[in-house]
Amino acid sequence: MNKHFRPIILALILSLGAGCARNPITGKSELMLIPEQQDIEIGKKYAPEIEKQMGGRIQDQALQNYINSVGQKIARVSHNQSFKYQFTALQDKSVNAFALPGGYIFITKGMLQNLETEAQLAGILGHEIVHVVARDVANAMSTQIGIDLLLSAVTSEKTPQTVLTVAQLGTQIMSLRFSRQDEREADLGGLDYMIAAGYNPYGLVESMEMLAAQNRERPIEFLSTHPAPENRSAYLKQSITTKQFSLANTRIGKEEYKTAVLNRLN
Ligand SMILES: [Zn+2]
Repeated sequence: MNKHFRPIILALILSLGAGCARNPITGKSELMLIPEQQDIEIGKKYAPEIEKQMGGRIQDQALQNYINSVGQKIARVSHNQSFKYQFTALQDKSVNAFALPGGYIFITKGMLQNLETEAQLAGILGHEIVHVVARDVANAMSTQIGIDLLLSAVTSEKTPQTVLTVAQLGTQIMSLRFSRQDEREADLGGLDYMIAAGYNPYGLVESMEMLAAQNRERPIEFLSTHPAPENRSAYLKQSITTKQFSLANTRIGKEEYKTAVLNRLN
């Protein structure tokens, strides 16, 4: 795309409704180049490519239903009910979880094998749901990949140096990097969602501690795209102590997770 084209494309995007949007997680106004209505469209377009690049879905419908049901419990209490939340377990052995705009959330076999309870799974999915609700993914795509590149794949403008295939974009999407501030917000927002959905919020602390321990042995994928904020465990635990809820009645689901996930993975 030549330079003269950019202002036209940008004007087109802005006329579609982009601009300042209130982030429901922080309550602050943020400049968004992609209008919210396009999030689902973008997620839907790239989800099949991401699945393909990550070895495809785990071929076990009962396991997929369980992962999706845990995710839906959290999504139901989130700030944005208009997205199309769906949770998919992928064959890939890396330790990772990630989201596309609009609510398409993925978790790898490598991650599932390292979790021990349903609350830990809920913590990881809750963290990803916050990235979707806060529109961190759409924001990272527009700033790190470039709005014109994203659109050139959607519209079919043929300019050699800017046209990327969906496959190439898929690779770029999987290497998007969030800021430490976004991570902190996803952690704290994830805790709120877990409590609202009836889960033991220490599940998120345990998941993050497991990931940090793994990362000390060898760098893991989740922490390269979701860089760990400092004192993560400390601020998570501190935040839990300030909340009004009865820990005794929260769900951990160790046996359920073992039966529905660990015993079924080979
Ligand atoms: Zn994150």
